Amino acid sequence: MFVHAAQAMGYFTAVLDADPDSPAGLVSHHHIRTAYDDAQGLAQLAAVSDAVTTEFENVPAAALDALAARRPVAPGAAAVAVAQDRAREKAHFVQCGVPCAPYAVVDTPAQLAAVPDALLPGILKTARMGYDGKGQARVSTRAELAAAWEQMGRVPCVLEQMLPLALECSVIVARGQDGQCVLLPVQRNLHRQGILAVTEVYEGNVPPVLAKQAQTAAISIANGLQYVGVLCVEFFVLQDGRLVVNEIAPRPHNSGHYSQNACDVSQFELQVRCMAGLPLTPPRQHSPAVMLNLLGDLWFAPGGDTPRTPAWDAVLALPGTNLHLYGKREAKRGRKMGHLNITAPTAEAARSTALQAAALLG
Ligand code: ADP
Ligand code: MG
Repeated sequence: MFVHAAQAMGYFTAVLDADPDSPAGLVSHHHIRTAYDDAQGLAQLAAVSDAVTTEFENVPAAALDALAARRPVAPGAAAVAVAQDRAREKAHFVQCGVPCAPYAVVDTPAQLAAVPDALLPGILKTARMGYDGKGQARVSTRAELAAAWEQMGRVPCVLEQMLPLALECSVIVARGQDGQCVLLPVQRNLHRQGILAVTEVYEGNVPPVLAKQAQTAAISIANGLQYVGVLCVEFFVLQDGRLVVNEIAPRPHNSGHYSQNACDVSQFELQVRCMAGLPLTPPRQHSPAVMLNLLGDLWFAPGGDTPRTPAWDAVLALPGTNLHLYGKREAKRGRKMGHLNITAPTAEAARSTALQAAALLG
């Protein structure tokens, strides 16, 4: 989607991804099929590019550093390195004065033994490489905690206190090369089994005071990282009304996909503008929006493994529906295959269409 946005503005694009079926590679002018840390591949990428970004936070920071020696890279390796590691990420939140869940770093058996009781029940999360709820275990007792850490192969982890959530929301901030920030409206997110399922964006989706707080926090987190590019900051709103930061993603984010159809500038175009040093004007949302994620489960008949094609005809007959499929070769349960953006003149209409679409997709 980033590649599409760049191409729409007249840019040629290059993608470095070892996977021959890489959706971005398939639609790009150049596809360099090497590992992220392959010196030759990186040299090739630098040679054909005027600016470089990453769509995946687990690209080794060393690879971004190597590219940065030859071309502007946004976000920079230092910021991406913070986002790659939950322990560093949380330390950054603390440094910025933005409250996060009480937590402890678990790298060693001694740290495991020293975890305060107050963090239980909690969620043990691998410090690196987690996504869509993967690399996480919910633990209620010290015995469960120890077993979960064993199960994860004793890799560096953080244990977070399980918080009573009222709702989840996120903010997309784009920070330019001059440090100017622009924001998309606050997104309200619904997760199922640790995976984003629905994003709703319209007036009043989140109490305005909290929305303002989330936006202010997102800007201080971006400023603190001297960030350049599009950053997503995920938050929890607790049942007592407090706002707590959860995690950051150093790239356009699933919860910002609605901007493709509901805003005058999408999060992907914002990334292009950041990279190219073009002006960042405050994005304007012109329509209330609901985004539905399309997981691979929809490609199987309910209760079985019989492949099917989701009911696109019926869904696209609903007004204000825009289908985005990523061109992934194989549908798997729990795999994000695409999303449906639904826009309407009112929030009620968008929600009602989203309910109809969800029912049709079954
Ligand atoms: P991922 O990298 O997989 O997105 P997250 O840390 O965002 O990992 O966790 C995924 C989801 O799990 C969150 O969106 C939230 O619904 C739930 N979750 C994570 N941490 C907590 C917590 N400390 N308390 C309650 N729920 C949590
Ligand atoms: Mg998350």
